[in-house]
Amino acid sequence: MMELPINIDYTGKVVVVTGAGGLICGAMARAFAQSGARVAALDLNEEAVKKLADELKADGYVCEGYKADVLDPEALEQVHQSVIRDLGKCDILVNGAGGNHPSATTTNEYQHEAQPDSKTFFDLESGGVDFVFKLNFQGTLLPTQVFAKDLTEKKSGCILNISSMNAYTPLTKIPAYSAAKAAVSNFTQWLATHFAGTGIRCNAIAPGFLVSAQNRALLFNDDGTPTARSAKILNGTPTNRYVEASELIGATLFLCDDRSASAITGVVLPVDAGFSAYSGV
Ligand code: NAD
Repeated sequence: MMELPINIDYTGKVVVVTGAGGLICGAMARAFAQSGARVAALDLNEEAVKKLADELKADGYVCEGYKADVLDPEALEQVHQSVIRDLGKCDILVNGAGGNHPSATTTNEYQHEAQPDSKTFFDLESGGVDFVFKLNFQGTLLPTQVFAKDLTEKKSGCILNISSMNAYTPLTKIPAYSAAKAAVSNFTQWLATHFAGTGIRCNAIAPGFLVSAQNRALLFNDDGTPTARSAKILNGTPTNRYVEASELIGATLFLCDDRSASAITGVVLPVDAGFSAYSGV
């Protein structure tokens, strides 16, 4: 069981979390369940969400895991019907599925540093760029089209998108992922406006840099000292530290609560240890 940073009672709420098989949204799904919600954990990785649901059920919480591709509207509608049958209609949607892909990533930070074997900007594959853009942008839009219907019926509820630091200023090497997350931030404002008269709020959080199993080797040498990229990140963060997934939970539970955040809609909240505030000087 995880220790929650704030106590907000989500009893009676049905929370749908996409990408719940992953690091960040797994922690969010867990936090909502521990706060009393009935949680639908959706992910392409069925094994991961079934395991999460089993663990939560064993601890006495309510969670069901569903295999779902956020880019497949028909399959999403089928999952939607299963969620209604198993848990009820959705109150809160967390659009967490997303990420980057190597095929949309340049080898070097700058064109003038490219070597003969580098993947340069000119070598980026349009299929890879499409994949990343689709996963992050359409992967936020399509589940919202499916699950926000429940919210409009209830005339209440909240959508929480996951943006990134690269939405404010792009990070080197990952142009598609940066542009796609900028689109997610923009779409968050669009949704907040579009649903303003229906009682539905829409916000996003923009996590700072996290250390995960996937990027640990890129960020730290075997002796625990930071790599060159890691040193850049830490130098660009005035608190000189990474963000833990558990540190996103307070903002998540706060923003999704209709009482605590009743007048907050259309914001993108950085949870970044100061990264976006710092000019580097
Ligand atoms: P993660 O890889 O641990 O989790 C992402 C999950 O999304 C995975 O379980 C994956 O199976 C799932 N997924 C991928 N494609 C899918 C699809 N088509 N349909 C359904 N599920 C799919 O990554 P994470 O670090 O937990 O990231 C979660 C979110 O936070 C993402 O949107 C990511 O872009 C964003 N984010 C991460 C960081 C970071 O530093 N880790 C920083 C800022 C934003």
